[in-house]
Formats: sequence, C-alpha cells, structure tokens
Amino acid sequence: MRPYRPGSRSAVAALLVVSAVACGGGPGASAGGSGVGDPYFPKAGNGGYDVRHYALDLAYDPRAHRLTGTATITARAKEGLSALNLDLEGLDVEEVTVDGVAARWSRAGQELTVRPREPVEGDFRVTVRYGGAPLTLTDPDGSEEGWLRTADGALALGQPVGSAAWFPGNHHPSDKATYALAVTVPKELRVVSNGEPAGEERKGSRTTYRWRTGEPMASYLATLAIGRYEVRRTATAGGLPVYTAVDPEQAEASRAVLARIPEVLAWAERTFGPYPFSSAGAIVERPGDAGYALETQNRPVFPGAPDTALLVHEIAHQWYGDSVTPKTWRDMWLNEGFATYAQWLWQEDHGGDTAQRTFDSLYAGGYFPDEGTNEALWSFPPAEPPDAAHISATPVYWRGAMVLHKVRQTVGDDAFPALLRGWAQQHRHGNADTGDFTSYVEESAPDKDFAGIWEDWLYGAGRPERP
Ligand SMILES: [Zn+2]
Repeated sequence: MRPYRPGSRSAVAALLVVSAVACGGGPGASAGGSGVGDPYFPKAGNGGYDVRHYALDLAYDPRAHRLTGTATITARAKEGLSALNLDLEGLDVEEVTVDGVAARWSRAGQELTVRPREPVEGDFRVTVRYGGAPLTLTDPDGSEEGWLRTADGALALGQPVGSAAWFPGNHHPSDKATYALAVTVPKELRVVSNGEPAGEERKGSRTTYRWRTGEPMASYLATLAIGRYEVRRTATAGGLPVYTAVDPEQAEASRAVLARIPEVLAWAERTFGPYPFSSAGAIVERPGDAGYALETQNRPVFPGAPDTALLVHEIAHQWYGDSVTPKTWRDMWLNEGFATYAQWLWQEDHGGDTAQRTFDSLYAGGYFPDEGTNEALWSFPPAEPPDAAHISATPVYWRGAMVLHKVRQTVGDDAFPALLRGWAQQHRHGNADTGDFTSYVEESAPDKDFAGIWEDWLYGAGRPERP
C-alpha cells in the first residue's frame, strides 16, 4: 500500500452509516444511501443495491418536447432494503412499483426515494412510469449535458450526471448494467443509441426503434440520438459491426474520416488489445448540437465531423473509460490521460511527432498556442482535481498522458505495450481507481521504482523540477 492512495474512503463509509441510521427501516432492513460517496458528486448513484439491467420504454416528440416512459430496473439488493433511492432530475413520476406491487415514493432534488411495501432482498425489479419536459443540465464546469435539443430532434449526453435527466437509475460510474431501449418517435425521425439495433416497427405516424447493449455500461456512457441521420452499416475485416449515423448536413465532411474507423480500430486492437464491445461506430451531429465530443459506449458522439485525432481519442476511450471505468469522478485521468496518450501513440506510429517530443514540448511550455493553457497544465495534479469543476480540466488530459509517458520511460519501450494492454485486460468491463493503477504498474515491473513518478507527476503540485 502506498501513501498516494486517495484517503477519503473512511469518510465515505461514515457518511453511509449516518444516512442508514437517520432514515433506516425496520429490523434487518436498512435504507440504501442517497449517494455512493463520490468525492465530487456525493449524491450521484445510490447505496444498497447493484443494477443489473435497464429496460427503457420511451416516447419523444421533439415538437412538443415531451418525453414519456417506463423504466424497468432489475437490481440486486446488497442487504435487506426498506427503502432505496434512484437519481432522477426533473420529469414527473406517475407510478412506482417494486416486484409488481405499488410502492410509495417521494422526491427531493435528484433523489427519488422508493419505499416498497415489503423490504426487498436479493433480486428485485423497480418500475417507474414518468414523463415531462426533459432538462438540459449545466455541469459545475459550465458545459451542458442531459437532454440537449437539436435542430431536428434531441441528443442525450450523460457525463458526469446527465443521464438522470432522461431515466431514473443508479447514476454513478461504479454501477454498470446492460440495457434494452425501445424509443418511439415521429416516423420521419430515427433513433440511435449504444449497442446494436434490435428492430424497428412502424405504427401509424410513429416508429419504435429498439437497441440492446449486452456488455456492462456505466450510465454516463448511455446516449440517445433522435433526428434525421444518414445511416451506414458496415463491418471490420474481423466482422465487428460498424454502425454510423450522421446528420445529413455533416455527411460530406464526415465521409473520409468515418471510413477510417476500421483502420483506427485495427490499430487500437494492436495497441490496447481486443476491442471490448460487440459493435462500433459513431454519431455525428451538427457543430452547435453539443459543446464537446463524448465517448458514448460503442458509438462516440461528435458535434460536427471529427478529425482523425479526435476519432482516435474517442475510440481509445472504448478501452479506457468505457470498458475500464473509473470508480469515482476523481479518477478521470484514467480516462482522459489514456485517451490523450493514445493520440500521441497514433501520431508516433503514423509519421508524426514521437510521444517523447510531445512530452518535451508540453514540459517546455510551448505546446499550446496560448500561454494560459501552458500554465494551466501545472495548476493541479492529475490524480487530484481540486473540485467537480475541474474533472475535465487541462491537467487531467495532458498531465495524465505525461504520467503514462513517465511510466513508459521507466519500464522501457519494449515492456510498455504489454503494460498498456494488461491494464485494459485486468479491469475489462470493470472499474478501477488511481490506487489500482499504481499497484498494477508496480506489480508489472517489480524491479523498477515508480515512487518519484507518483509523487511528482501524479500527486505533486506544480511543475516537476525535472522532465
Ligand atoms: Zn476524452
């Protein structure tokens, strides 16, 4: 054990105990907590149970801006539960049942507290019928997520907590589940989501689209894109289905870069190991539809045609972020540092700058065109963003990538590729935090000393004295 492990676990445990005492149920049953104790989003997720599967049956009409739905959540209680919480932002709840029996429920902020008639144990099923005008949420860093209205429909993006704007759930990256969606929209529109299409059915003036995600997915990676799209279904040489959906306005600008998806996937499999999911692809919206690209599982979302570097970044996230998912929002550098380093590796392998050169340029302070960003690189250590507003800030990406480069320098170019692949393999479809990473690296190269890297580059304040 190293002193660098995040140290607030005991505080988290204490919080959960307090909430269980404050609103606990009868003997042998307790109330699940109203959060999992995330250091930056303490109300995100809920204690006491694990979701196995979300079945979402939704309908949306962009003209009326009204979403109606039924969420059927299959979960397993970790203990006898007299009450349990779901996260839901906005929208009106009409009915809640637990294992088919009507349950009492109440709401406070993002917490939907469900009180089943009998305490639940083991596997159980919660059904929530709800509807209303879904909300666009503003994150602590000022970016918009949740339900975004677009020129021809809507786009749901959920990092970090926006998925609560369109379905009730255990909205924290630590609880992954499988998904089945059925979404009904006016017949001139189309619905695209994660996983694979599972049929469409026209009834009168509306069409229902079904999508299934069979591999575990953190809810922040769930997406729903409703609009007019040019759809292409192809496959890689290895037979992996590739499904792309592009706003017609962006079709021409996207064609060449999206045609490179199989090539990028092949390179990424050589570099990171087997692709973790059963399909790939992309969703391209118009530039104004979202303020950023997001690595939504299987099928990243891009606001406008991406360049190759951005495509590489979001595809790399399928391994680092989507398959190996952070345990808490403090561990974001495990997503962004890896995806950024993937761009450096791609460049290096395709006749561009070596990763060493990129590293040197960042360290020297001349990498970004503006002085402010070059300085911001050293504003906090990547493993410890100061608050929720900084989980996607500059050091998390570039200084996170610099940590990986320091690891590479230490183990050497011959050993580094196996280390990179091994991390994706060891935590495939799971969750990991910074402590897991440092332990993994130390165990992978027991004859090397990483203490200085962790101290200076991962957890140290300011610019390390030596590059
Ligand atoms: Zn990223």
